[in-house]
Amino acid sequence: MRYTILGNTGLRVSVLSFGTMRLPISGANPDFSRSTALIRHAVNQGINFFDVGTFYCHDHCEEAFGLATRDLPHDRFIISGKNSSHQTGSPDWLGQLRNSLSQFGRDSFDIYFIHYLTLQHWESHFLQKGIIDQVLRAKAQGLYRHLGFSSHDTPENVYRLLDTGMFDAVILPFNLLQREHSLTMSYARQKGIGVIVMNPLAGGVLVDAAIYEEVCQTAGWRNLAENALSFVLSHPSVDTVLSGMTSESMIDENVRTVHNRRLTAPQMAQLESSLSLEKSKLFIPCTSCNYCMPCVQGIDIPEIIRIWNKDAVLTSRKISSRDYADLPVTADCCIECNDCVSRCPRGVNIPALMNDASRLFMTGL
Ligand code: SF4
Ligand code: SF4
Repeated sequence: MRYTILGNTGLRVSVLSFGTMRLPISGANPDFSRSTALIRHAVNQGINFFDVGTFYCHDHCEEAFGLATRDLPHDRFIISGKNSSHQTGSPDWLGQLRNSLSQFGRDSFDIYFIHYLTLQHWESHFLQKGIIDQVLRAKAQGLYRHLGFSSHDTPENVYRLLDTGMFDAVILPFNLLQREHSLTMSYARQKGIGVIVMNPLAGGVLVDAAIYEEVCQTAGWRNLAENALSFVLSHPSVDTVLSGMTSESMIDENVRTVHNRRLTAPQMAQLESSLSLEKSKLFIPCTSCNYCMPCVQGIDIPEIIRIWNKDAVLTSRKISSRDYADLPVTADCCIECNDCVSRCPRGVNIPALMNDASRLFMTGL
């Protein structure tokens, strides 16, 4: 495993990190013994940074991670957590932090993140409601050493968050299809703020080698997912990339990729030009988090977006149309009740998208 220092924090992080949003589940609950096996396998492969969110895995992610790592020595991994109290409107920021620490069986976080932060949340929740006092108090009490945030906000707004001087690290989306934060990451790096990339495979769209068969064949690559990861790590400002790995073999494969591969400048140029920017404008930045579910009409919203995204980057419509036709409930069943809209942290206009998807796949227009 290769390691790097995360910005100016002094924390030594593996260049491949583990996103725990999709730990194995059994029925409706996490499968704690499989999760433990997977997390320990990752630790044994040298991965030492894990993105653990309160909401992930039906609210059991911290518990699963705490169980898996409770008896591991502290030097095997970085203790990191995520606060999402602004998303629920809770005024008890400190309470959530303490609760997370108890799930991990620890006294302090090496680094603590504010989850899905927008400039609007920062101003309305943290500044106007005074929650920032709790953030500062927790630091003074030694409950965390470094503060970071994750964000899907616009580059302009992320610049302003980085300029607050409050943060030591940032988690941003970046992949072959979503490159709008490329300069934001460089800006963070100049300020000594650690850069962590999420969503390197565009919500799984880039895993489908069939989509880019031509690209891979021309370049003699085994699959695009591998190169999509290398593409992210070849950005000079990226410290580490988060991958939501669901099996030991996926961990092993990604470890090999980050160990062996860096793309050359011509390879980077080839990849970029293979993916039309015009088409990628249609790409919906959905992370398949499932927060919008359930839909009152039984529509599988993330699955329809996955198919839409596939279509947005495909040269042929055959594969996406076939996937759409196989759905038990199609997008035209949306009654525009708007129930799902406020639950989407990415601000996707879901009813409008259902309308567009229905038109596209039914009429081809
Ligand atoms: S707006 Fe459409 S997709 Fe969203 S919950 Fe209502 S019916 Fe389902
Ligand atoms: S539409 Fe929004 S809430 Fe639903 S899965 Fe995608 S990102 Fe998550």
